[in-house]
Amino acid sequence: MSRKRPNRRWPASDPKTRRSLQPVAEMLEGRLLLYSKLGDQFVYSSRITYSFMPDGTSVGGVPSTLFSTLNANFSTAAWEQQIEQAASIWEQAANLNLSRVSDGGEAVASSGDQQDDPRFGDIRIGAVPLGSGTLAVTFLPPPANGGTDAGDILLNSSINWQINSNYDLMTVMAHEFGHSLGLGDVSSPTNPYPVMYGNYVGISQALTSDDIAGIQAVDGVRQFDAYNINGARNITYMTAANITSKIGSDAQAAIPSLDITTGGDSEWFYVTVPSTTTGTMNVTVQSTNLSSLSPKLMVYTSSLGLVGQAAAVNSMGATVSVSTSVSANQGYYIKVLAAGGYGAIGGYGLLLNFGSQTQSPIPPPNTVVAQQPDQGGGSLNNGIAVAGPDNPVAGAPAPVYTAIGSVQGWAEVYTAAPAAPINPVAQPVIPPISTATAANISPIVVIGIQLHPSPTRSPRPAASHRTPMRISPTKVIAWHRDKHLGVFTRAEHSRRT
Ligand SMILES: [Zn+2]
Repeated sequence: MSRKRPNRRWPASDPKTRRSLQPVAEMLEGRLLLYSKLGDQFVYSSRITYSFMPDGTSVGGVPSTLFSTLNANFSTAAWEQQIEQAASIWEQAANLNLSRVSDGGEAVASSGDQQDDPRFGDIRIGAVPLGSGTLAVTFLPPPANGGTDAGDILLNSSINWQINSNYDLMTVMAHEFGHSLGLGDVSSPTNPYPVMYGNYVGISQALTSDDIAGIQAVDGVRQFDAYNINGARNITYMTAANITSKIGSDAQAAIPSLDITTGGDSEWFYVTVPSTTTGTMNVTVQSTNLSSLSPKLMVYTSSLGLVGQAAAVNSMGATVSVSTSVSANQGYYIKVLAAGGYGAIGGYGLLLNFGSQTQSPIPPPNTVVAQQPDQGGGSLNNGIAVAGPDNPVAGAPAPVYTAIGSVQGWAEVYTAAPAAPINPVAQPVIPPISTATAANISPIVVIGIQLHPSPTRSPRPAASHRTPMRISPTKVIAWHRDKHLGVFTRAEHSRRT
């Protein structure tokens, strides 16, 4: 009977079928890299800013309620710190700095610069009611989205957000920051789950080796500053960098582009008090407006007696100073390190002031990029890597064209509904969320073809070599398991079908 034919094509006990699947299974087990790159990222990683939308900020006509939503459960400082921590773990893993800045409350997707718009962060964080099962939505970074909405993150305001229990704010924000920085969802579960795993499966506040490999594939390995290259290494007082020559006629010195590059690193500097001093030395370490480093500063005499110290633990960006009375020609050591806790790595600047004039802070690097048209899924050379749609069990979604109110763009949606357990890692059971029904997300359909179905995971038989997935008017996204093959044109699609 014809009704039996599907079963005969896919019987678990069919040795012929099993044999044909064997190499596939081995390939999966042997794979080391699971991460996927979106193929999109902010142009400058030297400083990517983020900001918290004030309540009332228009998200396509829907007012953001980030503050009132989270203030209902925590103090403002408590939830802000969770989000700042989520940013800092990415900064710690690769060659990028994330700096929190203020937000003027302009409407999301307002006309303006793609990066370093002075009115708000490159990544703006808000909260609006989203559909049931959705935890958050992140608009992909440039060039998929070319305007000020690129990288913006919208939490579902209907979720009862928690700290260190489900649904954990830092876990979700770490995942969303990953998208904003250029990573796609991971669909294949491993133990531990990567932060970029496509479904919420429990608290996950630390990057795995796969997440770290992913962000380093996007932004590269963190680079040492000018005092730690070409054989130099100012990590002890014996190799302290002498910065006396940096002091100008105003009795001030400003040294930008410094970096705590590895965990536990410290940087030592030495200075001789100039004759132009007014009798006070003010030493300042600044990561404010530069990075998520939580800084610590220690000042010593030339015989290593501690003069003073200042630290900003878990500040994820701060300015700390030590002031002391000095005389001309005295020598001092200055030690800069992380204060402990989150924000262990990041960029900073060092300021010295022996004079009477107020000293300006160190300006951030120029990262201005003007607005450009959305490029969406882009071309073959600029494709969106899709990690999951070939794996309906894991269910990691591909980027979709999303509209929230009048805001439209390419986005990733983080869902809260894990599927059945997948070996070898059993998924914990997270209770379903209950949300309001203000489903403003209306995904516009994207189409793809699955060139090679995944026999071990797909419910479809291996005989089918073209499994229609989702189609867009302009492009076809093709994938093989978790590996992105490229975004094809419609002509390509037609030829293959
Ligand atoms: Zn995601």
